[in-house]
Amino acid sequence: MSTVTDALVLKVSDVGESDRIVTLLSADLGVVRAFANRAKKINSKLNAGTQTFCYGEFSLYTGKDSYIIDGVTPKEVFFGLRDDIAKLALGQYFCSLAAELIPEGEPAPDSLRVILNSLSFLVSDRRSPEFLKGVTEMKLLALAGFAPDLAACGSCGENPAGDVDFDIAGGKFYCKKHGKGGFSVTPGVLTAMRHVIANPIERIYSFKLSPADEAVFSEAAENYALRHTGRNHKALEFYKTVK
Ligand SMILES: [Zn+2]
Repeated sequence: MSTVTDALVLKVSDVGESDRIVTLLSADLGVVRAFANRAKKINSKLNAGTQTFCYGEFSLYTGKDSYIIDGVTPKEVFFGLRDDIAKLALGQYFCSLAAELIPEGEPAPDSLRVILNSLSFLVSDRRSPEFLKGVTEMKLLALAGFAPDLAACGSCGENPAGDVDFDIAGGKFYCKKHGKGGFSVTPGVLTAMRHVIANPIERIYSFKLSPADEAVFSEAAENYALRHTGRNHKALEFYKTVK
């Protein structure tokens, strides 16, 4: 069986001297592994299209254990990420998070759009890396069904005007009267998290935070993402050493 799908290469592993296995985030198939025969050969028609961050139209057919890539027409390769080691690491972390959160076989067009938009903003410098990190983490988590409930204090149901305690494990927040020492966030950060969770993808990048709030937003979203994916990401650790 063969299929044609728009997909982004999340990860590449070399197999032997000339082959590659790539992890794809496909709009129609979710996260899938696909084999690229002889893709490492410089004159291979698959060489350019089977590198990390390549987004394109993939022709796949079903092999015994995985998909096999028959052809790929690249549409965007996010070449600018390679000029900046922090951006490269952050982009790899976004891919790693997507690979962790998105199941195989379920269409994931929205998650794909989030990653593509975030990579594009990252290359263009139109939003700061910390801002993009928080937005991407929070939206991917929400799309995967892990959105925190940020409507009101989880205890009294009030909406306090000041800082609140974000309960990372419980996915709620509490006013300072009822908080039990969760991750303290400012009203601006609470609004930002709500904005990203509630809005369609074309609007999730359209808000501003102070640099101080951006850092807290990024840290809150990261703690939440790591808690709910239950693992660390090498690219994130590396990003923190070079940002
Ligand atoms: Zn309360």
